[in-house]
Amino acid sequence: MPPAFDPATREALLARVRFYRDLGFTEFYRRPVDPALQAQLESLSPEPQVLGAPGLASETGEYEQQTLGAPSIPRPLAEWVGKQESESSSEIESPQENPTIAPRKPIFTPPSQPAITPAADRAAALQLIREDIGDCTRCALHAGRNKIVFGDGSPNARLFFVGEGPGADEDAQGIPFVGKAGQLLNNMINAMGLKREEVYIANVVKCRPPGNRTPEPEEGNTCSPFLFRQIDVIRPQVIVALGATAATYLLGQRQPLAGLRGRVHAWRGSQLIITYHPAFLLRDPRQKKEAWADLQIAMRELGLKPPAKG
Ligand code: URA
Repeated sequence: MPPAFDPATREALLARVRFYRDLGFTEFYRRPVDPALQAQLESLSPEPQVLGAPGLASETGEYEQQTLGAPSIPRPLAEWVGKQESESSSEIESPQENPTIAPRKPIFTPPSQPAITPAADRAAALQLIREDIGDCTRCALHAGRNKIVFGDGSPNARLFFVGEGPGADEDAQGIPFVGKAGQLLNNMINAMGLKREEVYIANVVKCRPPGNRTPEPEEGNTCSPFLFRQIDVIRPQVIVALGATAATYLLGQRQPLAGLRGRVHAWRGSQLIITYHPAFLLRDPRQKKEAWADLQIAMRELGLKPPAKG
């Protein structure tokens, strides 16, 4: 049984891991410590500490004992945070200061496709994301909310709808798309030959923007990493972005909806289709035909045929 971190180090380490998760980094990888750097670190401390990370072991499913020279930042963490952390760490000298230290390896780039969460673990993985959100106060939207609207549907959905943010009904019930726009979305889902329980629905922001305004970039950027984590757990075959806000945060850039609709975009292993928001369709029902054409692209990707009439 490896020795544990002292409580303060352990808490700091877990806080850092949570922070990175909040930013959307959900997978952490161990890299072997460079032996030259390890020797250098050990030579800096007369009494090397043996550090274990039982808290991390449960987070990552793996554990390696490390012998480090009394660092204030555990070595694996310094590896994850890379350059910035090493610059602020007094124990780790830069190559310029000490040319004997091996140059840092390139910072790990996460895979362009998320790791697979086994189907049986997805509900628990989503629950973990919900717990990470907690009683969130990360952005200004928390001040006006009644309920956090996390998401709704099947953890094994092949189709994932992304909306903008909760409205008044959703804020009251804590469930996405339960108001008038939600009724239209339900009809759209049924028209595709699916039931609402078979798909998954979530929003870019999980708290209601006052007066149903568009989320501010600060709010969207703070909250959307949780959406990305939900998508990464479910790994749907098809994502349908409902409206410009969903499209903007998924694509990482704002573009007119007209140029994004009507085709398939590759998105982290899923097929992304962009269409009008149901609230817009309620205001301008003539566009329903266009939205249906987009949904038919989604159906084609999913191998679905529309249900027989009658
Ligand atoms: N509009 C959205 O974008 N999301 C909801 O959950 C409800 C309305």
